[in-house]
Amino acid sequence: MNFTFTRAYAENLDRKDPLKDYKQAFHFPKVDGKEVLYFTGNSLGLQPKIARDYVDEIMDDWANLAVEGHFSGSRPWWDYHERFQDKLAAIVGAKPSEITVMNTLTVNLHLMMVSFYRPTRNRFKIICEEKAFPSDQYMMASQVRHHGLNPEDCIVEVSKRPGEHFFRTEDIIEVINQVGQECALVLLGGVNYYNGQVLDMAQITDASKAVGAMVGWDLAHAAGNVELHLHKWGVDFAAWCSYKYLNSGPGSASGCFIHERHHGRKDIPRFEGWWGHSKERRFLMEPDFQPEPDANAWQISNASVLSMAPFLASLELFNEVGLPKLIAKRQQLVAYLEFVIDQVAGKVEAEFEIITPKDPSQRAAQISLLLGENGKEIFDHLMRRGVIVDWREPSVIRLAPVAFYTSFVDLYEFGEILVEAIELSASN
Ligand SMILES: *Cc1c(COP(=O)(O)O)cnc(C)c1O
Repeated sequence: MNFTFTRAYAENLDRKDPLKDYKQAFHFPKVDGKEVLYFTGNSLGLQPKIARDYVDEIMDDWANLAVEGHFSGSRPWWDYHERFQDKLAAIVGAKPSEITVMNTLTVNLHLMMVSFYRPTRNRFKIICEEKAFPSDQYMMASQVRHHGLNPEDCIVEVSKRPGEHFFRTEDIIEVINQVGQECALVLLGGVNYYNGQVLDMAQITDASKAVGAMVGWDLAHAAGNVELHLHKWGVDFAAWCSYKYLNSGPGSASGCFIHERHHGRKDIPRFEGWWGHSKERRFLMEPDFQPEPDANAWQISNASVLSMAPFLASLELFNEVGLPKLIAKRQQLVAYLEFVIDQVAGKVEAEFEIITPKDPSQRAAQISLLLGENGKEIFDHLMRRGVIVDWREPSVIRLAPVAFYTSFVDLYEFGEILVEAIELSASN
């Protein structure tokens, strides 16, 4: 694409953007009385204005109906989680019966491990990526220890090649083939949180199945961001949080996918609770557990509806627009952001490098910039000027324009402020 680094050009892109009005559907924090340029939707998505109505509805039903709110009111609580199944199925490429919403991400991964990581004497290894998100590392190591095993014997990390910034699919597949019959589970982040790389989930899933392993995906940075076909790919399980690209608020409920081939199986363990018990019989308080026929069998507790309400509100917006349009705009935003960064690199003397793949099929909403010595000063200046980005050691800022609420002018202004930040840090 031929872009231009001028305000007029960016304004023109905004005028032509069919999703431009959605910016008004979100609340923006302010710095010095001015709305910020928000690039951390990969960490905590902005609040959709309609979220408050959904939360208020529950507060009102609680005030006015109290216990009756479980079964009456506009959206009764006892099956509140079922309202997500259609909507999330469209976002992650699943059948509605394969979706459930509960708990938070790491908790759901633990629950999935109970069912799908069952090490035996010969097959006990887990393959993951090096420097996986820390919570995932803690989760995997503690699961391994829970089985009386040693993480050092069981966890195999796929590395990047020396001097390279992202993973190669062929390297991941080679590790899977090497571990072969010993591989119990392949569990990777679909979109890497650090460099924004999108893994080839279809091919990696195939390779994992070919060696007889289970395959799960952590989709924290993928859900609502990239096209997914969990059912078609034959993924065993997946989980994701709702507060990043899904804009559902801090610590809000997590989504979970369990392939239908595992529904109704009696030969796999599961941690159980009354919300996973057959819906019609749940309140008969029977002693024997009768699982729901679908992914809802993995539910445990009374649905935490206050944390689900903003999630449901946000999914109304996703439903209204549809993921394909969001992805089309996100691709254009990221291409323009990359162009802006290249323009900045041409204007000022500074060392920085994009560590996110250039190939559009291997990246999504995020660009990670590796800065030089003055990285921290540049970051501090951006933040002071109301450009909200995030900092990762040793010297990386992550930028995530979001189709719902980032404009092309935002990216242009970011470029101008980045030039200013680099010049200032160089003069110090
Ligand atoms: C954000 C994120 C988490 C966070 O998990 P919570 O349990 O919701 O706090 C876990 N894994 C990855 C890959 C993430 O990006």
